[in-house]
Amino acid sequence: MTNRRTFLFKVVPAVAAVTVLGRQAMALPPLSADNNPAAKALGYVPDTAQVDKQKYSKYKDGQKCANCTNYTAINEQTGTCTMYKGFEVNANGWCNAWAAKA
Ligand code: SF4
Repeated sequence: MTNRRTFLFKVVPAVAAVTVLGRQAMALPPLSADNNPAAKALGYVPDTAQVDKQKYSKYKDGQKCANCTNYTAINEQTGTCTMYKGFEVNANGWCNAWAAKA
């Protein structure tokens, strides 16, 4: 039978360690034009301040991954995108496939 001391000093740390290791194993590489040809072709940038507004005239102020229909948040700063599976995108990033979240 597990007593309180065993629970606090063995079970709780073990569960915490498994949780931390599980999150690290699931960490996705950050998307960039250097590691994904589609991101390069669609002008992905991790910060909207870097959008080439001459080249991507579709871009309008306020557009960013966080309000794109293809985005699912992981946390406040990052998320995943259905366009770039296996990568992490910045909430404040943008690419030419941006579409308003419904
Ligand atoms: S499709 Fe949307 S969420 Fe994905 S990288 Fe482009 S702007 Fe960001």
